Amino acid sequence: MENCLFCKIAEKKIPSTAVYEDDDLYAFKDINPHAPVHLLVIPKQHFSTLSDCTLEDAPLLGKMLALAPRLAEEFGCAVRYDEQGRPAAGFKTVINSGPDGGQEVYHLHLHVIGGAHPWRGER
Ligand code: AMP
Ligand code: ZN
Repeated sequence: MENCLFCKIAEKKIPSTAVYEDDDLYAFKDINPHAPVHLLVIPKQHFSTLSDCTLEDAPLLGKMLALAPRLAEEFGCAVRYDEQGRPAAGFKTVINSGPDGGQEVYHLHLHVIGGAHPWRGER
């Protein structure tokens, strides 16, 4: 897709800090992090929004989601359990869709946000 920022990032025409890549996906650090860990996972195939995906895309979407805990583990914000076996840390996964969903870049992307209380914007 011409003139798509994230297509250009996936094609390395615009620089980014890569954290993962395979044939289908590319993941990189968000340029304006909202938390100590803020990564974006994108499909190399261009989809403008989640609404442009169909059930046939479920394996690709599942792969994006399944990558999130692996990245969280690597970046130190995976779900951990305390001595009582209760979840004691974790991360947030978000896909903003369309203007009312707060989407700014129109190439499907999954935010992986971690650190202390990332939903409060604490750093
Ligand atoms: P959204 O509001 O869900 O569309 O999120 C777009 C995200 O892309 C924001 O968190 C931006 O900080 C991030 N972003 C925009 N441009 C770049 C870039 N060149 N490299 C990395 N992240 C970017
Ligand atoms: Zn694109």
